[in-house]
Amino acid sequence: MNIKTYQNQANLFQLLSHPVRLQILDELRKREACVCHLQAVTGRPQTYISQQLRVLREADLVRDEKDGQNVYYHLKNDVVRALLGEALGVSGEQSHPKNCNCPICSDKIDQSGLSAD
Ligand SMILES: [Zn+2]
Repeated sequence: MNIKTYQNQANLFQLLSHPVRLQILDELRKREACVCHLQAVTGRPQTYISQQLRVLREADLVRDEKDGQNVYYHLKNDVVRALLGEALGVSGEQSHPKNCNCPICSDKIDQSGLSAD
């Protein structure tokens, strides 16, 4: 391997060495999510989440897709998916924070009715 390859991988690890970015990517490997969902999951403000998503998008790790009024972020990098699998284990179900009003969490509530918890 040449030095450029090592440099690219070093850049990738640098991107991943950030707890909130890891949390975002961990959530996105379960399912696509909008900014408001990631806000609810991480407990961080929108500007902060948007900033991290921009970094991840510029590094080509995530892509955004517009659906009506919402923008959903998808994990698009299979190497990152594999690395997360090694580092964090098998991905669970998508989180559904109580304070999240995103379309996916709202659908979940509609489908399951009023949950007991
Ligand atoms: Zn949500």
